[in-house]
Amino acid sequence: MIDVIIAGGGPTGVMLAGELRLHGVRVVVLERDAEPTLVVRALGLHARSIEVMDQRGLLDRFLELGKQYPLAGFFAAIPKPQPERLDTSHAYTLGIPQPIVNRLLTEHAIELGAEIRRGTELTGLSQDDDGVTVALADGTELRARYLVGCDGGRSTVRKLLGIGFPGEPSRVETLLGEMEVGVPAETVTAVVAKVRETEKRFGLGSFGGDVYRVVVPAAGVAEDRAVPPTLEDFKQQLRAVAGTDFGVHSPRWLSRFGDATRLADHYRAGRVLLAGDAVHVHPPTGGQGLNLGIQDAFNLGWKLAAEIEGWAPEGLLDSYETERHPVAADVLNNTRAQMEMLSTEPGPQAVRRLVSELMDFEEVNRYLIEKIIAVGVRYDFGEGPDLLGRRLRDVALKGGRLYDLMHDGRGLLLDQTGRLSVAGWADRVDHVVEVSEELDAPAALLRPDGHVAWVGEDQQELESRLARWFGAG
Ligand SMILES: Cc1cc2nc3c(=O)[nH]c(=O)nc-3n(C[C@H](O)[C@H](O)[C@H](O)COP(=O)(O)OP(=O)(O)OC[C@H]3O[C@@H](n4cnc5c(N)ncnc54)[C@H](O)[C@@H]3O)c2cc1C
Repeated sequence: MIDVIIAGGGPTGVMLAGELRLHGVRVVVLERDAEPTLVVRALGLHARSIEVMDQRGLLDRFLELGKQYPLAGFFAAIPKPQPERLDTSHAYTLGIPQPIVNRLLTEHAIELGAEIRRGTELTGLSQDDDGVTVALADGTELRARYLVGCDGGRSTVRKLLGIGFPGEPSRVETLLGEMEVGVPAETVTAVVAKVRETEKRFGLGSFGGDVYRVVVPAAGVAEDRAVPPTLEDFKQQLRAVAGTDFGVHSPRWLSRFGDATRLADHYRAGRVLLAGDAVHVHPPTGGQGLNLGIQDAFNLGWKLAAEIEGWAPEGLLDSYETERHPVAADVLNNTRAQMEMLSTEPGPQAVRRLVSELMDFEEVNRYLIEKIIAVGVRYDFGEGPDLLGRRLRDVALKGGRLYDLMHDGRGLLLDQTGRLSVAGWADRVDHVVEVSEELDAPAALLRPDGHVAWVGEDQQELESRLARWFGAG
């Protein structure tokens, strides 16, 4: 029997597949599209996702195909320099188009043994005490112990479960596409700079070649979002907003997106879970959605594997929703605020000026950017030192680097005392007696997702934490 069916082979789905395979879970990914999409939505990875790739030994693949940029101008496109002393050893954003992220994560999942079935659409589901049966568009059925819906903002799985998705519908629609232009690059740069003084949802940018990424408000284009935009729609909107259509031609792909902002009421219903855009949608401001989905998968993977392997302590799987729902709520909050500040109305513009002034304080700038790059996330593990609940940055150890020890997705006791023991949990938790000048604690217990589950030096205390996160010893 299949252990887990994942509906949706976008970045969240294939990330989760890889995480589950690290633990030997039998996983099948169902992807509706027969071929990978060419549409480039996300443009890159932020620090926490870069750390995630590092923790799984994937970073070199991403660095090879990406380009590093400073973390400047990411909050509401307010042009401020990258803050100093960001809490990460990857203080940059990695420009890498979404289709490449998807391909690299898919390759990794397949290498680890995941099965990806393309051209396969989930259309129905039913669950009982032992498993979930899913109906496919071709009329066949498939059964597994668990199902995870990673099937995007219009998630069929979420709808079939009847889980509420409250929030605001899309108010502002934007056209997005890649095409060539018929005017010199200098003309494009000059016109774009002028238009962006008043219209922030506008841009034509090239990545060095002939192809430009075009973003322009969609006002007046067909109301029905299912109708794909045409090149003529782009020309018409460019003329309306910029006074010229730049002679655009030879489109590679054309699409549109809205600014709907919604968060699912629940991330789990029995044996069915949801992750990524299936549980949260928001405008792309700050570039957070794909990152959030990858980090959902990183939180969920080891917990679901623990449940399937039979060692999950009470409540572990439910902690996925408890931990990730507030993180998404915070992202929705910051994108709503950013969208307001992109409005050209006098009130929001006044707020924007004030926030811009505040960002001249280094701490404010750092606080806002650490939100966007998600290194400031702290799960509520109860009372304890500041480190508790946070993920630990990649600290240097005497014998190497911390993240190099985390590729297998196991727990890790980083022990500077040399007196502690994980006997009883050694099949789930590695014990590393190592000293790090950067770690201001005698010992730290890390979950497979790198979050600090315990800090201290007392063996009994450690054992109670081991039991809480890794089950019986
Ligand atoms: C213009 C734009 C720019 C963006 N820029 C950024 C950015 O810079 N940084 C960032 O982090 N995020 C960005 N995002 C958000 C990002 O694109 C999404 O958050 C991300 O794609 C979510 O990944 P996912 O895997 O959860 O969902 P999706 O990428 O939507 O993947 C879902 C998959 O499920 C499949 N599927 C759907 N229904 C079914 C079914 N019934 N059966 C089987 N398969 C199904 C779909 O074909 C699809 O492949 C941007 C979004 C937009 C629109």
